[in-house]
Amino acid sequence: MTTFEIQFHGVRGSMASPGVHTAQVGGNTSCVEVRAGEQRIVFDAGTGLRTVGERMMSERGLGTKTTILLSHVHWDHIQGLPFFTPIYVPGCEIDVVSGPNGFMPLEQVLRRQMSPPFFPVAFDDLASRLRATDVRPQDHFELGDAMVTVARLNHPDPVYGYRVEYGGRSIVYATDTEHYRCVDPTLRKLAAGADVLIYDAQYTPEEYSGQAGPAKVGWGHSTFEAAAELARAAEVGQLVLFHHDPSRSDQAVADIEARAQILFTDTVAAREGVTFAVGGEQPLTSYSVQRSLQRRARPRRATLELIGAGAPPATPATALDSKQASGVEVEATSARAEAASEAVGVEATSARAEAASEAVTASGVAVEATRQRAESETEERCASDGRANASEGRAEAA
Ligand SMILES: [Zn+2]
Ligand SMILES: [Zn+2]
Repeated sequence: MTTFEIQFHGVRGSMASPGVHTAQVGGNTSCVEVRAGEQRIVFDAGTGLRTVGERMMSERGLGTKTTILLSHVHWDHIQGLPFFTPIYVPGCEIDVVSGPNGFMPLEQVLRRQMSPPFFPVAFDDLASRLRATDVRPQDHFELGDAMVTVARLNHPDPVYGYRVEYGGRSIVYATDTEHYRCVDPTLRKLAAGADVLIYDAQYTPEEYSGQAGPAKVGWGHSTFEAAAELARAAEVGQLVLFHHDPSRSDQAVADIEARAQILFTDTVAAREGVTFAVGGEQPLTSYSVQRSLQRRARPRRATLELIGAGAPPATPATALDSKQASGVEVEATSARAEAASEAVGVEATSARAEAASEAVTASGVAVEATRQRAESETEERCASDGRANASEGRAEAA
């Protein structure tokens, strides 16, 4: 039987967040390994990539080759690369692929990342065959028997989503993308009928809109609500919430997962170490049809079979421990803050307060500009979606 499997090695966004409150979901940044028959494909090279390297080194055959599809080159998506053991091993072949970042070719990005004073080993000193390839939105390419499609998504720097099809099944990886007021027409097309959609759900709707802290409009991330809306519109089989905020505790991720399941039943939150087998015995040709016919008759989660997990789910005792621990931490922090405030002179504090207030004003201007840009792009995408729908309607009418 052909293998089509997903394993999560890093599920966080922005930065790694190890600690007692995140141990069950995992603290590594974005890295998802896909096995498609003989191919190993890795979505993003966040800190989770280190364990992919360990796994590769313990295997033969498949262990020497991999293709890494980068969504973009923000730190949380590339930081594992210098610590990916196979790049130092002669005979290993690693292809790193991404769409244009708007600044420089991908190889130059990798060279800069691995150069002094940021890192002691230079790109040219790597013993493996490491190759960087730039692709374009809407490109299709083959990796063995798997077919990959690229799409541009919505983020402060250019970002790309990928659809991988293999053996009649499909996985879509779409992280670091902000939802629009409409369902993003590009994403709906990319994810149409996919078995699994891995999607950015960094913020709660309350955080995004500004009901809880500063609004996150224009920051380039999405919510579980938008994820569920997209999953329904694209008729995907299984939604996986991904790119969890670094501040999100295990319990908070579980709460988001539960809220999302009300909107789209077949939803799970990504957790580090968990492996899914995609699909069952049904062939591609009948699968899509059968799935749409049987959608109400059988749970779609049957298409995704959990075959392994890292840490067990949170128990009430653990949750309680976490709360107690966080209480202790808050107390310690406040004691430290008090001590610090006593140590600092009044004059220094007031100078800092002035500087801080200027910085806040400047950052407010920047945030407002980003928000306006995000809004105008939303209008444009939703308008183009309307135009696309209208022309589809005309085509159907004709
Ligand atoms: Zn990210
Ligand atoms: Zn990013």
